Amino acid sequence: MDTGQISRFVQSHYGLSGEFERLAGENENYCLRTDDGGRFVLKICGGVGPAATELENEAVETLAAALPDLRLPTSVPSSTGSPVVSCSEGKEARLLEFVEGTPWLEAGEPSAERCRALGSTLAQVALGLADLNSEAADRSHRWDLAAAALHRRHVGWIEDLDRRRVVDQAFQTFAAAWSSLGEFLPRGVIHGDANDENVLVEGDRIVGLLDFGDCLENPLICELAIALAYVMQRTAEPWKVAAHVVEGYHTLRPLQESEREALFPLILGRLAVTLTTCSERRRIDATRESWFASEEPAWKLLSRLGSHSPRDAAHALTSGIQEAGTDQQGSEPELLLEKRRQLMNPAMSVSYRDPLKIVRGRGQFLIDHHGRPFLDLVNNVCHVGHCHPRVVEAGQRQIAELNTNTRYLHDGLTDYAARLCATLPSSLDTCFFVNSGSEANELALRLARQHTGREHIMVLEGAYHGHTSSLIAMSPYKFRGKGGKGVAESWVHVVPSPDGYRGEHKGHGAESGRAYAEDVRRTISEASEPIAGFLCESILSCGGQVEPPEGYFAAAFEHVRKAGGVCIVDEVQVGFARVGSHFWAFERQGVTPDIVVMGKPIGNGHPMAAVITTKQIANSFANGMEFFATFGGNPVSCAIGNAVLDVIEAEQLQEHARILGEFFLTELQGLAQRHSLIGHVRGAGLFLGVELVRDPDTLEPASEEADEVINRLRHRGILLSTDGPLANVLKIKPPMVLTQDDVEFAIRALDETLASLQS
Ligand code: PMP
Repeated sequence: MDTGQISRFVQSHYGLSGEFERLAGENENYCLRTDDGGRFVLKICGGVGPAATELENEAVETLAAALPDLRLPTSVPSSTGSPVVSCSEGKEARLLEFVEGTPWLEAGEPSAERCRALGSTLAQVALGLADLNSEAADRSHRWDLAAAALHRRHVGWIEDLDRRRVVDQAFQTFAAAWSSLGEFLPRGVIHGDANDENVLVEGDRIVGLLDFGDCLENPLICELAIALAYVMQRTAEPWKVAAHVVEGYHTLRPLQESEREALFPLILGRLAVTLTTCSERRRIDATRESWFASEEPAWKLLSRLGSHSPRDAAHALTSGIQEAGTDQQGSEPELLLEKRRQLMNPAMSVSYRDPLKIVRGRGQFLIDHHGRPFLDLVNNVCHVGHCHPRVVEAGQRQIAELNTNTRYLHDGLTDYAARLCATLPSSLDTCFFVNSGSEANELALRLARQHTGREHIMVLEGAYHGHTSSLIAMSPYKFRGKGGKGVAESWVHVVPSPDGYRGEHKGHGAESGRAYAEDVRRTISEASEPIAGFLCESILSCGGQVEPPEGYFAAAFEHVRKAGGVCIVDEVQVGFARVGSHFWAFERQGVTPDIVVMGKPIGNGHPMAAVITTKQIANSFANGMEFFATFGGNPVSCAIGNAVLDVIEAEQLQEHARILGEFFLTELQGLAQRHSLIGHVRGAGLFLGVELVRDPDTLEPASEEADEVINRLRHRGILLSTDGPLANVLKIKPPMVLTQDDVEFAIRALDETLASLQS
């Protein structure tokens, strides 16, 4: 509408006349000065709807009653008594009282007093709005800070790579904090946009608050975070300003521990949303200046804040309210490393050139001693997410009740055994519980030997099955690796790895499968003695994330069984729905083993493992000698194991692994098109591998490059590791609660890292 139309509109609906002036800012707002000296604001907008308008009015009225000294934009009804009047092009108009005061933005560098006043006003707003009971507040919108993660998918639109990286990191810090703290933050209705234009001051006093259009139900701390994201922008001393605001807030509404911790990540989240929104809007209309007014200041602040660790930032923000001496973080990493060197065997390695001290885990994130979150793409032990509350609670409850051993009857044990067996083909019906994958493979070896009366065993090239003496002898990954003897014991027979990418029978189809299975037949026939069994992983892990070609296991198992051996699958790494299509990875090839070994993910980090076999094999084992593992199958382990199964089911993690795994694989294949260093991408569900090669023809392994990639990604907040006999495969096996945002983040980071490596 032009000013003439507006003038006529206001005259006819409100009986007012005077002069109009368009106000700065992104909304269509006009200031009306009436002939008799009155001042109003006419707001014109589209599609807000009656519920939102009513919420806005109710919020203003509620606050006006609670805080009579705060000037607020109260609504002026039209001549027919309506708060909203339809105008042209489906838009609606509202007339509000003009609120006197200087916007914070224009009031100059704030004094400590003014900052504290802002904090206490925001706390008063939180307390005042507690009386508002409106269903309409249960909503979300573009600037809903609690939903900031939704904007992350647009990070790719930020063209400047340095900026994109900082914003990506900010989103990660936000996401990690949100996943661990979100549910604990006290909630209520907030104004939702206490920015430096909406807060009005006079001297050191806060006299008014404008624009309730973003009002919604939210964690209360979001109000403070949003305000800080603005007041920290245009000051030379952002930390000092923020600390004073927090101090003022805390005096009236004391901040809980979770809120203090969440504050900095939420500020980062708000700035990240501002910056992604600007990039998004630039694609729509780059000439609309009002859309980009806060872009540069927001960027400046974010880059400044991003260089602080969350822990230091939390300290700085709460320096005015923090009791001294509450923070116990233990030794710095350098000192810990030194202590470790003195106390522990050097054979125990530490990941990364710049080792990490991790103090907390939550979901798919590990948090270091600076409070920095790392996206964990490699831990397939904390399967349903680090410290999953349901698993933690199950363990805590049971350990407070009873922890004994399997010599007593306990419902937990038998319930759990029945549940585990139900995930397997019906012939696999007898359970043994132990404490580690190694112990489980040892037991599987004993079962096979006892059942067949034979000693010899067959394993795959590159395999790792555990750290005991027998298992090191059965792990070419170790005995052929650094410090190994190089040759197999006479009772161990090694079959070539069924590697579809670089093995002798390359290819992923049935022909390759048959050819590799033929290696199994040949190895059996050439062995010095008949074999007791064949121990193999369904997808090789340490062996290089190798998925055997189609039909391999069916043919290989046939050869083994014909020779009187038993088929043992080690599902320690790949089991429990990780592969997405099935619960157990061996099911992908339609075979049924005789013994299944499970570990790592079974207890989400609690040390437990299991062996499940057939009645027949179990009966051969029961020769009179008691089987007893002190801790195996204890009530606490069973409670935890049960909770892990509950979470897999309740959160539908198998289906999630299937869908997200496919997405991840496709994205990695896209990267392979752009980076010649990627020779092969493979895997199933959330068990993936990226093999790096220097030359696609010779397949010369790019082991140093792989090491460089994981070390660079570690500094970008992503944890990966390398593996395979040539140490050139990036292993991807994250906690199953990984999200699409995380995958997109990892892909962006990997893309840039590979590009920087090749330039
Ligand atoms: N089997 C496989 C396939 C493994 O990867 C591992 C451990 N990396 C083990 C067995 C041994 O498990 P644990 O370390 O629990 O003894």
